[in-house]
Amino acid sequence: MPLSVKTPLLESLPLSRAIGARAWLKMEAMQPSGSFKIRGIGHACEHYRAQGAQRFLSSSGGNAGLAVAYAGRKLGVPVLVVVPETTTERARRLLDAEGAEVIVHGTSWFEANRYAQSLKTAQDAFLHPFDDPLLWQGHATLIDEVVADGLRPDAVVLCVGGGGLLAGVAEGMRRSGLDEVPIYAAETEGMASFAAAVDAGRPVELPALSGVATSLGARQVCERAFALTRERPVIPLQVSDREAVDACLAFLDDHRTLVEPACGASLALLYANRLPPGVAGNVLVVVCGGSTATVESLSRFGG
Ligand SMILES: *Cc1c(COP(=O)(O)O)cnc(C)c1O
Repeated sequence: MPLSVKTPLLESLPLSRAIGARAWLKMEAMQPSGSFKIRGIGHACEHYRAQGAQRFLSSSGGNAGLAVAYAGRKLGVPVLVVVPETTTERARRLLDAEGAEVIVHGTSWFEANRYAQSLKTAQDAFLHPFDDPLLWQGHATLIDEVVADGLRPDAVVLCVGGGGLLAGVAEGMRRSGLDEVPIYAAETEGMASFAAAVDAGRPVELPALSGVATSLGARQVCERAFALTRERPVIPLQVSDREAVDACLAFLDDHRTLVEPACGASLALLYANRLPPGVAGNVLVVVCGGSTATVESLSRFGG
């Protein structure tokens, strides 16, 4: 059985009305482990197991770690996730429920990641959350499915953390001849490492990250994400935390699906009508999902 599933492609009347064009949702929130991450991480885990890996290592307390834990359980490979003390109780419980071993180490991701690297043996495969061509190959299949369903979008909306989703979607668009179709890349203001790279003309490290969209919290995007801006249209756009959370709450009512503020950043470009004027035709939104938000946490922010 494949680790990821073929997700629904749904027309959204509320979002179509908001932008005055036809909005389509690729429902990655329906994936096992709750986000698109299982596409790429599942693909990478299968590859590493075929090469003889006897354990999967991760240092992500977010959706990447959850996808590794899910893949390991399905493939019968033990998983070790090292997370910092800041990781929520909920994230630890979700990892634990997948049967992963969880070690809490250090006060930041940097320390947890360094410790995870120090534990790595020759029999282990380390799964990076976004900077691995195997991940991009897996993520690319979401575009294959959209095209197979008969939709050739005129614009694509997604969000960017470290840029793995962007790299995969661009790869999928390339092999379907959609290289000229613009990708609108959403970030929240406190997590805008992709916009910073475009401004600087190279990937740069943000001095700090802030805000609710924790799954967008990569201080620097991968080289591949930046390189794409020289090969095809990719337009960075920013929304506030408030807009991202409001979009999650609106989406919950409109489409009965709970997503993280990271995903809300993409949805907010439509709900708040922040796409540039002239976007027309069929607009595909990657509803990337995420397991770390709860109704309670969104409502608390939403007030
Ligand atoms: C990982 C993740 C992102 C960001 O993806 P990148 O590949 O790091 O750019 C966005 N949304 C959700 C829900 C995620 O899990």
